[in-house]
Amino acid sequence: MLIGMIRSQSTRAYACLTALLWVGCSSGPELPNVVLISVDSLRPDHLSINGYSRETDAPLKELFQHAVVFENAISTSSWTAPAVASLITGQLPRQHGVTKGRVKVAKGDHPTEAELQPVLDPSIITLAEYLEARGYATLAVSTNPHITRELGFAQGFRHFERVQPVDAEGATGSLHADAARANAVATRLRNQVGSRQPVFLWIHYIDTHLPYYARQPWLDEYKAELRLPAVELPASAAADTSFRGKAMDLSQKRRLLEAYYDSEVAYAMQQISELLKELALGDDTVFVLTSDHGEAFFEHGYMGHSVYLYESEIRIPLLIRFPEPGPDARRVPEFVSIVDVMPTLLDFLGIPVESPIQGRSLLALADGATDPEPVALFGSLSRRKKKSYSFVQRGRYKLIRNHYTGHDRLIDFQTDRIEFRDSSKKNKEVVKELSALLEDPLSARPHETEPGS
Ligand SMILES: [Zn+2]
Repeated sequence: MLIGMIRSQSTRAYACLTALLWVGCSSGPELPNVVLISVDSLRPDHLSINGYSRETDAPLKELFQHAVVFENAISTSSWTAPAVASLITGQLPRQHGVTKGRVKVAKGDHPTEAELQPVLDPSIITLAEYLEARGYATLAVSTNPHITRELGFAQGFRHFERVQPVDAEGATGSLHADAARANAVATRLRNQVGSRQPVFLWIHYIDTHLPYYARQPWLDEYKAELRLPAVELPASAAADTSFRGKAMDLSQKRRLLEAYYDSEVAYAMQQISELLKELALGDDTVFVLTSDHGEAFFEHGYMGHSVYLYESEIRIPLLIRFPEPGPDARRVPEFVSIVDVMPTLLDFLGIPVESPIQGRSLLALADGATDPEPVALFGSLSRRKKKSYSFVQRGRYKLIRNHYTGHDRLIDFQTDRIEFRDSSKKNKEVVKELSALLEDPLSARPHETEPGS
């Protein structure tokens, strides 16, 4: 049955005339392309669009100016696998089950696949599966060893390719799979599917993940601001010890490390811009920029991620540029989660969610609505027995539970923006309430989201 598509001005969603028979909907040119970009370890506060002092996103400025910017987006974890599984399923880690695992990198050789990481359950319906059923050409490019076909992340993708890591000297063994190489793969896949179908492309970049390579001209520019002594800098940096022997104090080394990171952010943004030019998908494209988690820079004495669940590690950027007649540019201060990305896209496309998810559509917020009361957000980090935490955040409070010690820590953001104090003893009622939510997240998150809700 050939069924037309209409655009609903009231909901700003695309609505299939026979939504109940969604498998039978046409795949006409009315469906917009969807480009989902996740940049590993990308901190939202290191983008100029969010007020950062360095110009890290100049090539995407115009695109970002037309986007809905979610200012308070939180991931479901502080490392890749659970967070990315949440991004593409709309489920919390406890529901999708991809919570553990590690990657063994053999020096001088290809890394082995992730060990002990559960495979994403084939019964879970992914964003790609929804879109494939609607006639999209579904394409994915991964640069992260946690995101592979073997681990279940290719579900719903007609073409899924993992770009193997190569370090700056051309030897394998690091985590580095350059964005330019990922772009070349994405362009090749795009050209394989022709132009008759709408395209869903998901690309996960890893340039902003440790180790950070010195990207020019940005690093020289940022280094000049730091007024450091004239020292020769290494090709990459992974810790303040990367500058051992250089005539700098610890504070200078840490700021330099951040400059390396920022040079990678600027490089990634430039490569995204190049990719969009190369693909030339046109204005009728939904563009999403996000990350899997953040990156700590010694706020609590350590750097990197997958350590704890502080803001530095779980805050992510979330920008969505909707095509006409989608929501216009806006900054949304409400708290939102990475699990909300999938239902938001499906809502915009008029595709009903037919699987249990914990995300919600953000279309109403993107259109200017506000939450009548703060929404609860959840996440966890449980890579090893002794390192197992979960959190619930609602309004001014965040409760972090250490599952190994049983200790609860309450953060009161109103009095403690930097998360240094445990306020649990002074707020026993709050701890009790959040504790009940933590034990039963489904009581606070929708089991499924209908378009327009
Ligand atoms: Zn990651």
